[in-house]
Formats: sequence, structure tokens, C-alpha cells
Amino acid sequence: MVHCCVPGCINHSSKTCNVSYHRIPNDKGLRKAWLARIRRDNLPPLQNCYVCSEHFTDDCFEADLKAQLMPELKVKRRLKRDAIPSVFSFGPEPKKPRISSENRESRLRAQELRQEVGVEYVTQTCN
Ligand SMILES: [Zn+2]
Repeated sequence: MVHCCVPGCINHSSKTCNVSYHRIPNDKGLRKAWLARIRRDNLPPLQNCYVCSEHFTDDCFEADLKAQLMPELKVKRRLKRDAIPSVFSFGPEPKKPRISSENRESRLRAQELRQEVGVEYVTQTCN
């Protein structure tokens, strides 16, 4: 029995039927890419780490005619060698909240305006 090691994913081989579980690859570069995507602290030993098929897009899997034509056979889907998980409920990359950057921009703009006004004010009093 295996379970998915992706944070927030509760898939477990005893509770799912159309989900396949895939080991983290041994290839150093690929493994790094997987782990970066999974973004999990305290990962269990890699040999016990599986990522379920729900984190892969369909084109990550080898085309398997047999599985497509006879889904009742429950042929295990095979990942392509260079597949990287990309489907996560927490989204691809954390984004800075838009509101704060807008606030910063408007603050900067207000500062510029104040400076402009200040310059005008100075020139006015000089006159
Ligand atoms: Zn999962």
C-alpha cells in the first residue's frame, strides 16, 4: 500500500482505484525538479515516496492503446521518463498578493506627486 507524498493530497492506494502512484525518479536532475514542485518539508525516505497520477497532466503518460481501449483491464499507466508533476492544488508558484504591490505603487506615486507639489511650492514662494 502506498500513499501520495504531496502535501494536501490524501490519495492512498487502498482508497483510490483509477490513480497510479509513481516513485520519485533516481535521476538527480529530475528528482530535484520533482522535489521542487512537491515543496514538502520532512520528506520520508525517497524509496517510500510516491506521487499520485493526479499531479501529472495527461501528456506526461506514455500513450497506452491497450489501457485506452480496455480501461477495465486497469493497466497501470506509465509515466514518460522525463515527466515532472505539475498539477498541485496549491498552484504552480506562489504569487505576491496583487493588492500590496498596487499599494506600493500608489504610495510611490503619491510620493512623486508630493515632491512635484513641493517643488512648485518652493518656486512659488521664491517668486
Ligand atoms: Zn497525490
